[in-house]
Amino acid sequence: MEDCLFCKIVRGEIPATLVHETETTVAFRDISPKAPVHVLVIPKAHYANVAELGAADPALGGQVLAAVEAVATKEGVRDSFRVVFNTGPAMGQTVFHVHAHLLGGGSTGFGAV
Ligand code: AMP
Ligand code: ZN
Repeated sequence: MEDCLFCKIVRGEIPATLVHETETTVAFRDISPKAPVHVLVIPKAHYANVAELGAADPALGGQVLAAVEAVATKEGVRDSFRVVFNTGPAMGQTVFHVHAHLLGGGSTGFGAV
């Protein structure tokens, strides 16, 4: 996906603050954090949203969840965090490469992401 922002981050063409990387996933800090810990966890392969990912490659979806757990541990929020997959523009999705928002480090009510 030539023009996809997150594919460009995967390829190293756009800078990002990486916090975790595996063979199939990468995690980096959200540029506009909505919580003290706000990390985006993505598969390196391009899928538009979590529904497309879940339908096409559920094992890769599991690897994304494993990466979420690893990042939550690294960031010290493993006991208390939220994961959000905005899906579709009406639900706030603005980047059409599936990404888990990992939000933590606060109490409750981070609001919309
Ligand atoms: P969503 O609205 O669910 O599609 O989330 C997209 C997220 O990507 C937003 O929270 C943005 O702040 C974040 N974002 C956009 N561009 C970048 C970037 N270059 N590096 C890191 N995060 C970004
Ligand atoms: Zn992409």
